[in-house]
Amino acid sequence: MATDSFTYPVELASTLSDGLRSAKQALVTQWLDRISARVAISTKRVFPTHELLNHVPLLIEGIAGYLKRPERDIDGKAPVVAKAMELGALRHAQGFDAYELLKEYEMLGEIIFEFLASTAEQIRDNYPRRDFLACWQRVFQAIELIRQATMSHYLRLSAAQINERENRLRKFNRTVAHELKNNVNAIANASSMLGESWTDEAERKEFDAIIAKNAESLKRVLVNLESLSRTQMDARHCRNVLLPEAANEAIRELDAAAKAKGVEVRVADDLPRIEVDAGTVELCLMNYLSNGIKYSDSNKGERWVTIEAAVEGPNTERDREVVIRVTDNGIGVPADKREQLFGEYYRAHGDTVTGADGSGLGLSIVRETVESIGGRAWAEFREGEGSVFAFSLPSRRRDDVVATSNRPESEKTPAS
Ligand code: ADP
Repeated sequence: MATDSFTYPVELASTLSDGLRSAKQALVTQWLDRISARVAISTKRVFPTHELLNHVPLLIEGIAGYLKRPERDIDGKAPVVAKAMELGALRHAQGFDAYELLKEYEMLGEIIFEFLASTAEQIRDNYPRRDFLACWQRVFQAIELIRQATMSHYLRLSAAQINERENRLRKFNRTVAHELKNNVNAIANASSMLGESWTDEAERKEFDAIIAKNAESLKRVLVNLESLSRTQMDARHCRNVLLPEAANEAIRELDAAAKAKGVEVRVADDLPRIEVDAGTVELCLMNYLSNGIKYSDSNKGERWVTIEAAVEGPNTERDREVVIRVTDNGIGVPADKREQLFGEYYRAHGDTVTGADGSGLGLSIVRETVESIGGRAWAEFREGEGSVFAFSLPSRRRDDVVATSNRPESEKTPAS
């Protein structure tokens, strides 16, 4: 039997390729619809920039070109590879995981093959079957190459991010260890002084105060570490609670401190009933609330701290997120000190606020914690007095939309 040398079915490939090209906008729309049906973000957010939206059809264009020209390779220089990498970078920035990204390509493959199958159905008698198979194989390769370009870029960015987080964590560990050592040394020194026969009553009081102050600081660092270790547990083992429950827990913990300072802690009654990671939210709220209490203004007759929250976005800058704000009518922060608030060991008031002990670590721990799960932490200062400390957590779960969108506007009363 003579070897049947197979030549690439240029004519069929060209027909299918032209079909793909002319249907590319419709195919992209179908793809976007399927993706956004999976994740709770609108099609507008799936490809948030116009530039990207205009360029996505290039992926299909690239596949069509690869199908039509058997001599053409999809290599690192092909424009379609650059677009595929942009998609990887975008998904990384949006906090998508690798599985979601693979799923997107699976959907793109489904849509393209559904389209090709229906085109093939109309011309099935004009070409031998193996020609169709050759075209299928070529399309499959093209999708695979584009998928690889997206994934490898995405994974490169993820690896860099993990590396950066590890470095931050190492630095953070050093900072905390240093802090604990200082406190323990101060306590040990003061207690050995107390044992000396030469100490008089006044000195004894001073050493007692040093011990109490450092023990208090130790306690605060340990509470933070405990919450941190809870939040850093494997995400699948996270303890999820409803946001109002997490808020109540944080308030309960600080009840005595609030009473001692005469500060009323209020919670807006429209907190969205969405599930949040208890460890993270309680850690952030406890730090913000305890600051609101510590830095309250003793000259004010009425002192308060309020917790509010809302699901915000999506907008051109961000996906939808839950934003939690802790507002107080305390002493505020001088304008020239606001920039550095979240830096380690930074204290804006230093010794000017009597009785407000602290290490300047709380806010940096809050920022570290929320950023590690894709959120943000910041302060806002409005005209007049007091401060607003806020943090946000990404919210892409469909349940979150349901839980918040069912509430009529009239039910939402802004907290004072
Ligand atoms: P700490 O309270 O232990 O000093 P934090 O990191 O929690 O450390 O806060 C850093 C600094 O930010 C504080 O020392 C204080 O000057 C300022 N600050 C934080 N929260 C408030 C607030 N609610 N009102 C006024 N100042 C605040």
